[in-house]
Amino acid sequence: MKPVIALVGRPNVGKSTLFNRMTKSRDAIVADFAGLTRDRHYGDGRLGSREFIVIDTGGFEPDSSTGIVKEMAKQTRQAVAEADVVIFVTDVRTGLSGQDQDIARYLRQCNKRVLLAVNKAEGMSDSPLLGEFYELGMGEPHPVSAAHGQGIRSLLEAALEDFPEEDEEAFEGEAGDRPIRLAVAGRPNVGKSTLINAWLGEDRLIAFDMPGTTRDAIKVPLERNGQKFELIDTAGLRRKGKVFEAIEKFSVVKTLQAIADANVVVLMIDATQGVSEQDAHIAGYVLDSGRAVVIAINKWDAIDSYQRQLLERSIEQRLAFLRFAPIVNISALKRQGLGPLWQAIADAHASATCKMPTPVLTRLLHEAVEHQQPKRSGTFRPKLRYAHQGGMNPPIIVIHGNSLEHVTEVYKRYLEGRFRDHFKLVGTPLRIEMKLSR
Ligand code: GDP
Ligand code: GDP
Repeated sequence: MKPVIALVGRPNVGKSTLFNRMTKSRDAIVADFAGLTRDRHYGDGRLGSREFIVIDTGGFEPDSSTGIVKEMAKQTRQAVAEADVVIFVTDVRTGLSGQDQDIARYLRQCNKRVLLAVNKAEGMSDSPLLGEFYELGMGEPHPVSAAHGQGIRSLLEAALEDFPEEDEEAFEGEAGDRPIRLAVAGRPNVGKSTLINAWLGEDRLIAFDMPGTTRDAIKVPLERNGQKFELIDTAGLRRKGKVFEAIEKFSVVKTLQAIADANVVVLMIDATQGVSEQDAHIAGYVLDSGRAVVIAINKWDAIDSYQRQLLERSIEQRLAFLRFAPIVNISALKRQGLGPLWQAIADAHASATCKMPTPVLTRLLHEAVEHQQPKRSGTFRPKLRYAHQGGMNPPIIVIHGNSLEHVTEVYKRYLEGRFRDHFKLVGTPLRIEMKLSR
């Protein structure tokens, strides 16, 4: 499971600048719990092969009394609760402040690992100005410059030192009769718990062990049409006597971790609401994760034909980048459409783990080039020689040849379309990588 790092500090010390440095996501997921302009932002980061989640908070002013600031402090406390490690951000240019002392006092009682970052320290790694930050009693200050990208790597290495590097799963091992790991993602109130309860209600629960430590996700085994599944907890599954029930609780962190851990994600949309911006954020995250995805339009029972039209338009506009994902209309409440949903999940998984033999890929590549050559760029015409499979879930096709840096995005999409058609891929992204032959 990806470790979670929370950025905490008073306003203007540079938390969002640091957040942008640490994350690669084009779009942070914004959890607008209270409808504030700056709530918690969640993004994905990577250090070498290690991945992590970063939470940015508006700012922390523990002793102020106006409502909005209190709300920010609440957001920060929740971010700290969700985090494995806290990075306490301070500002060397303004120096230590009383607010910093208050935050340090708060963080000391939280029982979380805290690293002290002293920001805006470009060119100041040995400055005596750093000395006063020892007063906070938060260990050694890490001088960084979020704006200039200095000191970030060593800060992250320190933050992640307790977390083992996860072994990349060998992709040969993905298939076989391992259970399909499944996550249900979506905004609060789209009907995730209702769907999960419907699934748990209609499938016999197999006995299984609770995870040993709190960092492990709860995974509930399910079986359907002879296929084994493992449902990864996103809705906050709790044991209630002998059965599990999904409690109503939306955790962005759990959702992000579950997506990263899943083979197939069911992205749930509320038909009565259409596709919101937050839905699109979650969808963008799912796309970046490379996971297979099925879009479940829930509450289909509750809309009329006019709303259907609006809904179709909002899907067209906001989820165009997930066009490869099958769309299944369901009613979790009335247990309608659940059969087709299982089928779509199984199909998406089959596509995501499909085997693509090198001779077939190479033949398809040659046919595609014969049908339409890549454009010449100056004196170069890319020469596409052969292709092999570089991974599964998502499937990756690696193309070898010369002058491949001149292959346009449009041409890559053309190739992707040809490969997709041949292998009848549904519900999975397909990645095309170019590799220069020596
Ligand atoms: P936040 O309120 O803590 O999220 O702070 P912001 O990230 O919005 O940054 C506040 C201000 O500090 C902005 O004007 C940033 O450009 C500036 N800033 C952020 N990081 C650095 C840095 O490393 N060096 C300098 N000199 N300025 C920075
Ligand atoms: P979650 O926050 O995503 O877990 O959403 P819930 O499962 O708690 O559902 C939120 C609300 O939507 C509840 O009042 C459900 O009864 C209702 N709901 C869920 N599924 C359906 C559905 O298929 N049709 C209708 N009409 N309402 C539903």
